[in-house]
Amino acid sequence: MNFDSYKENKGNILLVDDLPENLQLLSDSLIQLGYTVRSVTSGRMALKTVKVKQPDIILLDIKMPEMDGYQVCKTLKADEDLRTIPVIFVSALDDVFDKVTAFELGGIDYITKPFQMEEVVARIENQLTIQRQQRLLEQENIKRRETEEILYQSRAMLASILNSSLDGIAAMQAVRNPATGDIEDFRCLVVNPVIARAFGRNREEMIGKLTLKKFLTTFKPELFNLFVNLVETGEPIKRDFYHPLGNSCWYHFVAVKLGDGFAITIRDITGRKQIELALKDANQKLEQLVNVDGLTQVANRRCFNGRLQAEWKRLAREQQPLSLILFDVDKFKLYNDYYGHLAGDDCLIRIAQTVQQTVHRPTDLVARYGGEEFSVLLPNTDLAGAIKVAQSIQQVIHAQAIPHVKSDVKNIVTLSLGITSLIPVWDVKPDTLIALADRAMYNAKQEGRDRYCTN
Ligand code: GH3
Ligand code: MG
Ligand code: MG
Repeated sequence: MNFDSYKENKGNILLVDDLPENLQLLSDSLIQLGYTVRSVTSGRMALKTVKVKQPDIILLDIKMPEMDGYQVCKTLKADEDLRTIPVIFVSALDDVFDKVTAFELGGIDYITKPFQMEEVVARIENQLTIQRQQRLLEQENIKRRETEEILYQSRAMLASILNSSLDGIAAMQAVRNPATGDIEDFRCLVVNPVIARAFGRNREEMIGKLTLKKFLTTFKPELFNLFVNLVETGEPIKRDFYHPLGNSCWYHFVAVKLGDGFAITIRDITGRKQIELALKDANQKLEQLVNVDGLTQVANRRCFNGRLQAEWKRLAREQQPLSLILFDVDKFKLYNDYYGHLAGDDCLIRIAQTVQQTVHRPTDLVARYGGEEFSVLLPNTDLAGAIKVAQSIQQVIHAQAIPHVKSDVKNIVTLSLGITSLIPVWDVKPDTLIALADRAMYNAKQEGRDRYCTN
């Protein structure tokens, strides 16, 4: 395209005539009007010169020796690069001029000698304008094709991202009430195969058609208001949700505002969730092992010590009483000797479980302190309350009436209990409570067993 030369001058004109003096007047006038004019005197020269520099228009004499205007025009039109140059035939009035041939060969106009200058310029300008417009059109076409190509490529890329993503991706658009502007629902704009699969639908029945409110009613209706809030505030939503479908059931989703709607990505985290749950389960079991007595299934001494420390501090702060009952099975060595060690174990289990069911407050703690000795920690309980608990323990064990024929206390299993109660103080160790309860229990043993003593 000779587009730059067009900007510099009004147009590049090639005059072809075997008698240049014929065109002298025309050439001078066109130069004066601001056109760039080249003149050649034969068809052959014309064909050579157009290859060196293409003119915007050719004024071609018909009657020339060797090669006439028709032949020149035919050659030009046969050449891929030159065929677009407009050719205006020039004929003398007395020439035998065949207009039909001229147009058939690709001429676009003709001028008859002698010229009327205004007419010539008007015809040249006409052709140049058409040519300029054609060039602009071509350039616009090229640009449009380039834009289409870019658009096509970016669409193809977007589609391949959506299709190859391992995450589910969807975009939803708000459906608003025309009168109030409130969001009434969301319509699905884009959805990729992963999301369609996750919800057991096909994409065609989702895109443009699916409305969110109805869809959510089947499994998570409470999410709808969250999505409305997301669009109104721009606050993203991130959360895990459980939705059993196929082999997968745990998903993590992130929703972010997009235009007047939101984009959502969904990731299958079933594997991770299963590991998390197994870990939680294992931790719970470990916690159990660490804090629970293996034989009797009540708290162990480690657990008791931890709770005693914590309650001691808390009640010192609150200035509230903390009570402790320590109890020991009477003549248990004889029980073991007579009934056997396994029966002894069963007896301890029964005692522990019975006592466990006797205490009621969630903060009360029954623990196996060691051997056949147990502790009952009673936070926010004064001595009177602790005595009541000790009495009920004694009663429920009596009620169990576990035979103990070798005991000289009674012919059933009995307990000796030591009770103590105090308001903890910071600079006294919690072990004091144990020592006091132990002393009281010792007294109960000394005074004949099957009783409680206080301290
Ligand atoms: P007292 O009335 O003075 O408490 O007499 P006792 O026989 O109960 O006291 P002693 O300390 O002499 O004996 C406690 C017995 O408890 C000895 C031990 O074999 C038994 N014992 C401790 N732990 C367990 C256990 O886990 N299982 C069984 N079967 N017996 C246990
Ligand atoms: Mg004992
Ligand atoms: Mg003992």
